[in-house]
Amino acid sequence: MSKKGKVYLVGAGPGDPELITVKGKRLLGRAEVVVYDYLANKKLLSHVSPAAIFIYAGKKGGSTHTHSQTEINQMLVDHALAGKIVVRLKGGDPFIFGRGGEEIEELAAHGVPFEVVPGVTSASAAATYAGVPITHRAFTSSVAFITGHEDPNKKESRIAWDKLATGVGTLVFYMGIKNLPNITANLIKHGRDPQTPVAVVRWASTPEQRSVVGTLANITEVVREAGITPPALVVVGEVVSLREVINWYEKRPLFNKKILVTRSREQASELVQSLEDLGADCLEGATIALAEPPDWTPLDQATGNMAAYQWLLFTSPNAVNFFFKRLAVMGLDSRRLHGPQIAAVGTATAEALQDYGIKADLLPAKFTAEGLAEALLAQGVAGQKILLPRALKAREVLPESLRAAGAEVDIVPVYQNILPPMADDIRRALEQGKVDLITFTSSSTVTNLIALLNWSAEELPTRLSGVKIAAIGPITAATAEQAGLQVDIQPETHTIPAMVEAIAEYFAAAANN
Ligand code: SAH
Repeated sequence: MSKKGKVYLVGAGPGDPELITVKGKRLLGRAEVVVYDYLANKKLLSHVSPAAIFIYAGKKGGSTHTHSQTEINQMLVDHALAGKIVVRLKGGDPFIFGRGGEEIEELAAHGVPFEVVPGVTSASAAATYAGVPITHRAFTSSVAFITGHEDPNKKESRIAWDKLATGVGTLVFYMGIKNLPNITANLIKHGRDPQTPVAVVRWASTPEQRSVVGTLANITEVVREAGITPPALVVVGEVVSLREVINWYEKRPLFNKKILVTRSREQASELVQSLEDLGADCLEGATIALAEPPDWTPLDQATGNMAAYQWLLFTSPNAVNFFFKRLAVMGLDSRRLHGPQIAAVGTATAEALQDYGIKADLLPAKFTAEGLAEALLAQGVAGQKILLPRALKAREVLPESLRAAGAEVDIVPVYQNILPPMADDIRRALEQGKVDLITFTSSSTVTNLIALLNWSAEELPTRLSGVKIAAIGPITAATAEQAGLQVDIQPETHTIPAMVEAIAEYFAAAANN
């Protein structure tokens, strides 16, 4: 029997990619086809296997739809009938103004098996992230979700304005920005107090969130002046007055700060996560990338002749990972290394070896190249053959001191540091002065960013004059200063957590001035 496909209609949540359900995330991991909307955060696609088929279904109010609803329905049916696991990912909750019902009806009509996973709807998130409890015993015991965008072809309103206006405590309008003048006029006309507080929240639960408050009488004006455009939600009701006490999201120390992180992708996550936890909007613009070496022949020859070596040395987790990846490509595994003794420069490298089932025979007291050389020399290396897989360019102290002691050292490159291309959105953000802060965590992040920008030496300080600079330590700071950049933030201890703390303090102090 052929494999049976299935469609999972999954709520992506309102914006923050961590607001998807555990189940939704798991299903993304199983998807063979994923069909996603404009409102579903693209970061969620990182949970999907790169081998899957990715289909952008579009749908942005006002712009031309990428695919019509009929086409989307047809794609879901076709892929499922072809035996695929399909995840249809929709912003918020699929059954709340998401046309989820229509898509499921179509699947049912074609006999396609399906399941639906609810999501955090944007009304709930927008209110919460704007500091408004959607219900509160002292203010309201009812809430309504209403579309602010009735089908333009509809002759008569299907919304019972007379009943809603005074019959429900909290009113939340989806897709209501264009229609805001009509919405407020209808509510006032049917008896709601013009002084009722209203909050409008754009891109709720994302670093781009913006919110404004007003009253039914003036919110249209407030929204126009603030330039708020869709997607945004309109929350009407007395509960909005609680925002003064509860507004927590927008008060985080780095809210609304765009921060460029220049570390390599492999190393950026701790810094990015800590900054985002404080509210920052991080741009990941790696200035360092790791790549395969230009030629694998030296390594392949060495691994073909392992028995000739007495020692195999690893000086970084990267070297371990690239070494074993190549071994696997060549159809080999750890058993190939049974001959020589194996040394790791430090605990991180030793742990990386453990992942491949190898226990290091030697770990020096000091976790540096010098420390490793010392430990090996203490064992006596004269006449021994040593294999050192490492970066294409690296410090020479280790091989030099081993050779001086009479060892024969074969250096084989297993990876190289390269300058990755600069993403267009990052270049644009810097050119348009949208970046508030750049973080530098080593001198090479400074020199590489400058190389990538390719601005003249005179141009650089001027073009970056509006951007704050954080450097992890004095050497990095000196490199930035040599390029004419003013370093605004430098932590006392040269660690990532200390740097994050210094950044938060800097912006808190700036906000109080
Ligand atoms: N199914 C979705 C709603 C889709 S209708 C849900 O459950 O949230 C599209 C409308 O949802 C937008 O016009 C806007 O009013 C609202 N919306 C969705 N995400 C939003 C967000 N992050 N911030 C503010 N409004 C949002």
